Amino acid sequence: MELSNRQEQIIQIVKDNGPITGENIAERLELTRATLRPDLAILTMAGYLDARPRVGYFFTGKTGSELFTEKLKKFKVWEYQSLPVVVEEDVSAYDAICAMFLEDVGTLFVTNNKSHLVGVLSRKDLLRTSIGSKDLTSVPVHMIMTRMPNITICEPEDLLLDAAQKLIEKQIDGLPVVNPVEDGLEVVGRLTKTNITKALVELARDQHI
Ligand code: ADP
Repeated sequence: MELSNRQEQIIQIVKDNGPITGENIAERLELTRATLRPDLAILTMAGYLDARPRVGYFFTGKTGSELFTEKLKKFKVWEYQSLPVVVEEDVSAYDAICAMFLEDVGTLFVTNNKSHLVGVLSRKDLLRTSIGSKDLTSVPVHMIMTRMPNITICEPEDLLLDAAQKLIEKQIDGLPVVNPVEDGLEVVGRLTKTNITKALVELARDQHI
């Protein structure tokens, strides 16, 4: 979102005269301090200006793209992850296909009887199995999934950018978000390319706040 004319004016005043009090900025614009308050709050929250008590506002010198990057680098996986869709390792390829359609996801996570992650099942894994003339109801997913320890994972506190890097490097669509437990990994979320696209769009739209 673009800055308003008044916000651009405020930035220019602070650039030229900072540190400067809110009162002084208001005087220069022939406005009241109260009228200016929302603009000053927006510019401070967005990182263009900084305020020190008893000193006033000063210009941080950061460009829009620097601020964008700074924020993007702080995003955590847990802020953007979706709910995981999980099937047990003994369910059939047929049931996995149904789950994929019903839940509207492209990747299923496979767990054992302790609910620990044992595999990942993608669309292509199921297509590959379907191409053969096998009876899909008699093929358990543990026979066709990508299995541990070859699963690329992430944790809720990981940086979104690091998770995005893994998706690119491994050329996959999604990662299970896991919490390590005593003897395995508990699946707590799903992080996909869609989640990362959402984060980017949200950041670009809210850039001024
Ligand atoms: P698609 O099958 O739609 O191309 P992917 O590119 O995500 O989806 O999957 C490609 C292959 O990588 C599949 O065999 C799948 O089992 C495997 N795979 C998917 N996600 C992961 C992951 N997080 N870790 C390891 N392997 C994965």
